[in-house]
Amino acid sequence: MTKIKSIRTRVWNWTGPTVPPQGNFCTNASDALWDKGDAMASFRFHQWLTCEVEAEDGTIGIGNAALAPTVVKKAIDDWYAPLVIGEDPFDYAYIWEKMYRRTHAWGRKGIGMTAISAIDIAIWDLMGKLVNKPVFKLLGGRTKEKIPVYYSKLYADSIPAMQKEAELAQKHGYQAYKSRFGYGPKDGMSGMRENLKRVEALREVLGYDVDLMLECYMGWNVDYTKRMLPKLEKFEPRWLEEPVIAEDVNGYAELNAMGIVPISGGEHEFGLIGCTDLLRKGAVSVLQYDTNRVGGITAAQKINAVAEAFQVPVIPHAGQMHNYHLTMANANCPISEYFPVFDVEVGNELFYYIFKGDAEAVDGYLQLDDDTPGLGIEITEEHIANFEVIE
Ligand SMILES: [Mg+2]
Repeated sequence: MTKIKSIRTRVWNWTGPTVPPQGNFCTNASDALWDKGDAMASFRFHQWLTCEVEAEDGTIGIGNAALAPTVVKKAIDDWYAPLVIGEDPFDYAYIWEKMYRRTHAWGRKGIGMTAISAIDIAIWDLMGKLVNKPVFKLLGGRTKEKIPVYYSKLYADSIPAMQKEAELAQKHGYQAYKSRFGYGPKDGMSGMRENLKRVEALREVLGYDVDLMLECYMGWNVDYTKRMLPKLEKFEPRWLEEPVIAEDVNGYAELNAMGIVPISGGEHEFGLIGCTDLLRKGAVSVLQYDTNRVGGITAAQKINAVAEAFQVPVIPHAGQMHNYHLTMANANCPISEYFPVFDVEVGNELFYYIFKGDAEAVDGYLQLDDDTPGLGIEITEEHIANFEVIE
């Protein structure tokens, strides 16, 4: 039996070139404030946390977190690492409960749960490496030959620019695409028309034989969404994502109950109980927890079971290997979100610059290797000149 010897956390702060996003490229929760400053500052994140859990025999499991990395690092270093060091990694469920219960007063949502997630993902990677099996094999094995993915980009831009991006993406064989709305309540009727024109323009290029998902990133409210849903219906969106802020669960439920367009969400929800509440209230027709926030792979597997019982499909937020392994091992996870490899823009792309081994989509699918142990990623120093690394 090998025990956990140490935990190393590093914040990777991107200092390299970034593509500046155009105005109105995605609505977000700060829009309601009529901010005069940079309202998108809450959307862009150019930092990432890596969390390496090392066993006594020198094997290292890798976890990560994208939410408030410098604060999550502090939480791990000061609070969670001492709870985990000395434990047997195969006692993962016990370790999870220990982290969760010892910090329950402040840790069960937000920063605390993100820290738990990073450590838990690293422990699963470590277990896989110790028994020489990919994580999806530890989770029950392959439920699909390969994983269909949806192209997740298409930020709001000029109509010709969005149509061009959709045309280029189409050449790669995707069967599903997600686009972002650029306008919300503060933009009034003219903004509504701008939103609708872009959905229509995308359907013009993509046709109706592929799925089109629409993302609000919490930038709308219930009233605005109620007015938009009937106007969107004719474009047959697969879902409308996070129309309102994450905490307005009743708002989600009300919109979903309208039955016009399926409502999706959950990427800013935490834990088994939080996600179960979304399901029980009928708040989402598609659940999109983010494994590196929701409580890691240990929590995600429990949530998958509950969602399956509710017959609500789970499509984890973001690309990344921890999500793909869960998707591979669960029949109720039909497809994965996929951020195509691009220059650094909003920050979704950063993990391609920190890790190597992330699966890349080919003809609209990605594959996991049966023989690569753990999650299959390594930290690469290839782009280190473009990072300030805080240890
Ligand atoms: Mg989203």
